[in-house]
Amino acid sequence: MSNLGWHSLGTSFDCKCGHSHSLPIKEVYQGADAAQRLADFAKEQCGKTCLLVSDENTHAAGGEDVDRALTDIGKEVRHQLYGSAIFEATESLGDDVVVSSAVCDFIVAVGAGTICDLAKYAGDKLDIPVLLYGTAASMNGYTSAITALKVRGLKRTLPCKPATAVFCNPEHAATAPTRMTAAGVADFLSKCSSSTDWRAAHLLQGVYFCDRPREFFEGTQDLILESAPKVPSGDPVAIGNVMEALLLSGCSMVIAGSSSPASGGEHLLSHYLDMKSSLYDLPNDFHGTQVGVGTVHCLGLWEKILALEPGEIDIDTLSDRQIDDAKVQKYIDDDWGPVAQEVQVQWDAKKMSPEELRRFLEKFRDMLPLLKRELPVDLLPASVVAKAIQDSGGPVTPEGLTMPAEEYENALKRARYIRNRFTVLDLAADLGL
Ligand SMILES: [Zn+2]
Ligand SMILES: [Zn+2]
Repeated sequence: MSNLGWHSLGTSFDCKCGHSHSLPIKEVYQGADAAQRLADFAKEQCGKTCLLVSDENTHAAGGEDVDRALTDIGKEVRHQLYGSAIFEATESLGDDVVVSSAVCDFIVAVGAGTICDLAKYAGDKLDIPVLLYGTAASMNGYTSAITALKVRGLKRTLPCKPATAVFCNPEHAATAPTRMTAAGVADFLSKCSSSTDWRAAHLLQGVYFCDRPREFFEGTQDLILESAPKVPSGDPVAIGNVMEALLLSGCSMVIAGSSSPASGGEHLLSHYLDMKSSLYDLPNDFHGTQVGVGTVHCLGLWEKILALEPGEIDIDTLSDRQIDDAKVQKYIDDDWGPVAQEVQVQWDAKKMSPEELRRFLEKFRDMLPLLKRELPVDLLPASVVAKAIQDSGGPVTPEGLTMPAEEYENALKRARYIRNRFTVLDLAADLGL
């Protein structure tokens, strides 16, 4: 049985974890002739007419090549062209793409997160092939089975079918702003804390876990640490390495059947900021930029947790110190006003009664030696990850984000309430850290 990797595209298998895993993406290709490869794929696998979704920037950075390659092989290309200003993926924009592509046989998206999310959303609704041409190594969504859209004022992560095929030209990705690629470095490295959160949730709470998704990361991490300092100079080889790591990271989530391998406490911190930004019109940053700051924080928490000794866990004191329900409810009401009820549902599903918390802390104390042995497999020191993100041109402290720093401070305390997924933010709060 070989490790999962690019040869796993288009395959499915029954796993010893009891689940059946599949990776329905048919092709992932990165190279200078990516536009031609996309057209070759479309010639073999897709119908006559496509909707090409892009914006003015991404059309210049690859869109024209893709358009020409598709036209040359006789495809009829229609266009959904957005302007050059940064915009958010919303459900209504997604529905526009659904309408525009309803008469098409397939969708081609040329862009990064926003454009690709709109295309994946529409392709999923219409059940037609979606080919992505990634123009920035900024996040791991090209190969993922989720789409992030603002729905009724709130950013949501919706499940969708993954793209049919993904193509990238590192020369084009190298023209994206450095901060975007640095966001990609951070989004990839966030798996150090998110994978640890997932494994801990399994060991401490019996959450489903499979070891195989991490096979996609094999050997990639060292390459990213080496490539990070070459990002600011626009080195296409280094940026190609970042893109490849992100494409593999997305595949790991598809195989896992959830975002768990690549989305833990650090992503909750970022989602908290995104939700605040949506609701109160605050400036938010690139996904990976926020995630990077969160990752450094979460890795620091793991370092503190795994440095504890069982004798230091004073269960009586910790139980007495837990925040009471009324205070949490006030946080949720203050933060989320019109959508507080939805957030409350997430927290109600996760919160522990005082007795449950006591039993959980006892279990943690008893399992601490095992956790110290098993959890470090995915961890990197916070300082190593921080250096890589900084070397690649990204921030590692809240002051470096576009969001007001006090919102990040709120996120540290309150992000754990927004989602029913056990993360290091919960464990640290339970342990009074
Ligand atoms: Zn499995
Ligand atoms: Zn991410």
